[in-house]
Amino acid sequence: MINAFSLPGGSVYIGEGMLDLMMTEDELANILAHEIEHIDHYHCVERVQVEAKLKDLNLELLGALLQLPLDFWEAGYHKDEEFEADREGMYLAVRSGYSPYGAVDTFERFAKLCDEYVIHAQSPDQELSELAIQSLNGYFRSHPLPSERLAEANRLIAQEHWETRKEQKPFRIEYEVHNGAYVK
Ligand SMILES: [Zn+2]
Repeated sequence: MINAFSLPGGSVYIGEGMLDLMMTEDELANILAHEIEHIDHYHCVERVQVEAKLKDLNLELLGALLQLPLDFWEAGYHKDEEFEADREGMYLAVRSGYSPYGAVDTFERFAKLCDEYVIHAQSPDQELSELAIQSLNGYFRSHPLPSERLAEANRLIAQEHWETRKEQKPFRIEYEVHNGAYVK
């Protein structure tokens, strides 16, 4: 799954396919911060309340949240909420000591992927599986164009004079847990 999403209450999920695309810890920090900002600005709470009304779910019941389908969580938010999460996420990542270029590099990679797999739908020797491409398409449908997000990220870097904060930490996996057991 090449996507990331957050639930009210603070859980953030990030797909393995998305992790596979990351080259630096700063890219991961910017993605996580983006999802945290959706929670912090109550974007996901509003969506849950709308969906619950439509489906007549009683959110007082703990199980009701789990009745919302996965594609609801993957569907994304309004365009202005996405830009808000990008912008506030970059502030959060920078305040935590990460490079804002983590966001820039991620959006550049998304722009390239969007061009290769969505605009010019590559086929025979493509590096990604059909499934990965499907989830990538879902991600691009639910987010503003990567080229627009990239332009906004660069604009914020110029505005905040963050140009010197270029250094990023390489992405590495500390440990893995499968079904509750450490495997590495
Ligand atoms: Zn988002």
